[in-house]
Amino acid sequence: APRSSAELIQAEGPVLAHNYHPLPVVVARAEGVWVEDVEGHRYLDMLAGYSALNFGHRHPALIEAAHRQLDQLTLTSRAFHNDRLAGFAEGLAELTGLDMVLPMNTGAEAVESGIKVARKWAYDVKGVPADRATIVVAGGNFHGRTTTIVGFSDDDDARVGFGPFAPGFRTVPYNDLAALEAALDETTAAVLIEPIQGEAGVLIPDDGYLTGVRELTRRNGCLFIADEIQSGLGRTGKTLAVEHESVVPDVLLLGKALGGGIVPVSAVVARREVLGVIGPGQHGSTFGGNPLAAAVGSAVIELLATGEFQRRATELGAQLRTGLAALTGKGVTGFRARGLWAGVDIDPALGTGREISERLMKEGILVKDTHGSTIRLAPPLTITAEELDTALNSLARVLI
Ligand code: PLP
Repeated sequence: APRSSAELIQAEGPVLAHNYHPLPVVVARAEGVWVEDVEGHRYLDMLAGYSALNFGHRHPALIEAAHRQLDQLTLTSRAFHNDRLAGFAEGLAELTGLDMVLPMNTGAEAVESGIKVARKWAYDVKGVPADRATIVVAGGNFHGRTTTIVGFSDDDDARVGFGPFAPGFRTVPYNDLAALEAALDETTAAVLIEPIQGEAGVLIPDDGYLTGVRELTRRNGCLFIADEIQSGLGRTGKTLAVEHESVVPDVLLLGKALGGGIVPVSAVVARREVLGVIGPGQHGSTFGGNPLAAAVGSAVIELLATGEFQRRATELGAQLRTGLAALTGKGVTGFRARGLWAGVDIDPALGTGREISERLMKEGILVKDTHGSTIRLAPPLTITAEELDTALNSLARVLI
């Protein structure tokens, strides 16, 4: 007999690493913004796979692209060319206004790859002495889980117990241009930041910060690497969050929604003078740029090219802000929102973020806490105004 949700959760305990603490829901099916558990209970997905599901679950155009590709070719490795990769790279270059693409799979791999590219560029082009290149990162960052990346995290849970770490990183406070300027010198290869810090609680820097980062990196002669793995691809109402300040970084890191919620697809996208420093044998990935990933990624780019999702994120984002403003002082102590993305601070007297998430789950709404009493709202960009109201009404109910 098929196992119940409770049985499946219990079965995981002894056989699955405990690196997550999931809400006690076992999802078996999904469509659009709705997921259904093993017993057939429906939930509104207000997390959207940490923004990997910007187009909702199983968007028909993406599923069709995947099915079509499954019937043709799924993997070649980069030992050979495949007939889908050129179109994917052309599409991504056109979408971002940059020139070249290095295809990878996960977000952390894109970040690692971006770091490698920046260092190689620093030695080959900027003339930094061998092994002296530094990369400046921001406090509160979240860029993934590899040993190099957690080494420059300031979250103890992420970092402690996993050293020794790679040298060559300097941390400055986020949203502080003076501190950034002071950290830049002749060894600086790049500044790596999230245009909005997602895991930190959807922290939005002051207007002018991204412009300032662009200006300081240009003046120093180092690269500006924007990690848009969570902020990018429609979430904030623009294709890229840097567009809110009309800033063009040298290197863009994309992931999550680039795979349409179907396959892991990430990419380093950059100007030709930058990505051109990588030659054969210097970097690679068995699955990076595989034809299934390229086909789904190309379909994602086509959806974004319509502008519909960015428009929805802007319009529904206004509704989200209005709804959260109405709850402020009624259980919500503050919030930060851009597009369909919000970090909502809950009065700690009402419970932890985890407890609020559990209460929302009982109401049929799936969210995830970030830190302490902050929850994150990031629904699929396909959500309707009525569905968003449902979520906001449920939030109001659990805050009493
Ligand atoms: N960078 C940012 C800004 C992220 O939010 C994340 C994931 O949450 C990552 C990188 C890592 O992506 P992945 O989990 O696919 O390795």
